[in-house]
Amino acid sequence: MVLDLGHCGRCGTRLAPFEREPSHGECPACGNLEFNNPIPVAGVLIVRDGKVLLTRRAIEPRAGYWAFPGGFVERGETIEEAARRETWEEVGLEPRITGIVGSPSSMVEEGHLVIAFRGEADGEPVPGAEATEVGWFAPERIPWDEIAFETTTQALKALIAEGIEAPPAHPHEVRHSGTPAPIELPAHCLRCGGTLRAATDNEPGHGVCTTCTRPLWQNPGAGASLLVIREGRVLLGRRGIESRPGYGMWAGPAGFAELGETIEETAQRELFEETGLRGEVRGLISIYNGSRHIEVAFHGEAPGEPTPTAEFPELEWFSASDLPFGQMFDSCTASVERLAERGLLFG
Ligand SMILES: [Zn+2]
Ligand SMILES: [Zn+2]
Repeated sequence: MVLDLGHCGRCGTRLAPFEREPSHGECPACGNLEFNNPIPVAGVLIVRDGKVLLTRRAIEPRAGYWAFPGGFVERGETIEEAARRETWEEVGLEPRITGIVGSPSSMVEEGHLVIAFRGEADGEPVPGAEATEVGWFAPERIPWDEIAFETTTQALKALIAEGIEAPPAHPHEVRHSGTPAPIELPAHCLRCGGTLRAATDNEPGHGVCTTCTRPLWQNPGAGASLLVIREGRVLLGRRGIESRPGYGMWAGPAGFAELGETIEETAQRELFEETGLRGEVRGLISIYNGSRHIEVAFHGEAPGEPTPTAEFPELEWFSASDLPFGQMFDSCTASVERLAERGLLFG
């Protein structure tokens, strides 16, 4: 994938590839790093009387095709808030979100990570500016040839497989760690280096370029973690890099998603980089919503013994009764509690 790294948001200089990770940009003038990570997209499959609500898209990409209400998650809002906001804008309904459908799916080429929720809503949907038509579809009436995106098809198939009226298989875990990160507008356009001015819509962190007129939105990054389970015990590491958050605390292997990989590949790559293990994803645990990133937590399996690394100088297998509560990273606590509830940890 050829990537235009664009310009430094701090000083406007054209970015060069960052030596350690060339998909990210480093400013040759001021040293600022600009990260390029997949952006989370959140939407809702609203179900009622055995049918699911779809909208026919009025806008590109895929104008004229059917999708479920959804859109980009912005910095400062949770994935649920983004899904509810988009649903209100697209069909005029205020959904009650009840859980996650299937597992988040990656649009690798586009650099998006799609999170589909299951929800309910009162009232009748009305198409907004981004839809020409709305409709309720029973599973056997879904127009599969006219579905907008592969990720839409995957979410619909997962909904049908789980049961359109069934309780959600994966409740969503919203936990904000500490105070949300302040949202500041960079000084310069990331595309052309021109000067940014604040957008007039009063959304914090939104700007418009005075040169190329492109809007700048700020989105949270997407990441993944992979908790390896073996004989009812989970592999955690003690974080060993002093300059990073959670130094000295126990956590699962985790990190930001890179462009060009699926979210499962992110989880497997981080596991390998931090423990030396080659693992497989077996299922979704939940999605953790941090203050400036979201983390898709998976459980999985891996053969062999882990090797200590700079990230995790100490690695240990924990059973349900000896989990290091109080010394675990917030996102890790949320995940191991879910694993214990589901009976995947013994002891
Ligand atoms: Zn710079
Ligand atoms: Zn610009």
